[in-house]
Amino acid sequence: MNKIITLSIACLMIAGAAFAQKTTDKSAGKLSGASKEIPFSIDTMSYVEGNVLATFYHEFGHALIDLMELPVFAREEDAADSFALVLTEILHDPLRAEQITWASADQYVQIARKSKGAELDFSDTHAPDMMRYYTLICLYYGGDVDAREGFAEDNALPQDRADFCEEERDMVQNAWTRVLRRIERDKPGADWLVVRDVDESSDPYVVAAQQIVRESVAILNETYNPGFTVNVDMVNCEEDNAFYDPDDQTIIMCNEYISPLTRSFSPL
Ligand SMILES: [Zn+2]
Repeated sequence: MNKIITLSIACLMIAGAAFAQKTTDKSAGKLSGASKEIPFSIDTMSYVEGNVLATFYHEFGHALIDLMELPVFAREEDAADSFALVLTEILHDPLRAEQITWASADQYVQIARKSKGAELDFSDTHAPDMMRYYTLICLYYGGDVDAREGFAEDNALPQDRADFCEEERDMVQNAWTRVLRRIERDKPGADWLVVRDVDESSDPYVVAAQQIVRESVAILNETYNPGFTVNVDMVNCEEDNAFYDPDDQTIIMCNEYISPLTRSFSPL
């Protein structure tokens, strides 16, 4: 398990560390931004929540791979990405699932734009951001190719890739639903997912993000019971990050992860 543990520690789902926007302004009454104040908006909040949920599910996937000692035959980060997508569609209605998926995919585009011109890091444990974008769009489209053809076109999925998406989706769907069936809760009981350390914030987006994670924790506790405990910390990390720490069986959602999301969102 050492290899998995090493890879999991370094997990950053959305913002590649090299391109992370460090936040220094956490003062009350405004959203942390390097140079501009971003007014609170429902659309931005929905975008932030979508990304927070997708990231939280991705880290949950790492936790299951670690604690259930699941076999992983290729890049663990790709497995965690596909898990997040499958879980999103299980837990949310179709409209919300599409919003979450799109918001998560859009972040890869935003990060790729910020890093334009920079050399790709082929040694990274994650696939390049645009590859993660197309895979996410493909897997979502593959869940219902008739109904989601417009989604694939709107998000520029090439036909050469689209031809394989139904098959790709079936593969990850079958893999993860088998795992999730094993841990479905059959009777009420103690929580296994436990919100532990929380650093409070006056940033309304951070407050809302923490609330959506709490709600998700409650739903996951009601729905599943894997027989082990996973902690959830929502804390100040001094870095824009989210990761699973196998040594502490803890998902850590950094408060600093939120602000760059608010700056990324641009209404159509
Ligand atoms: Zn990861």
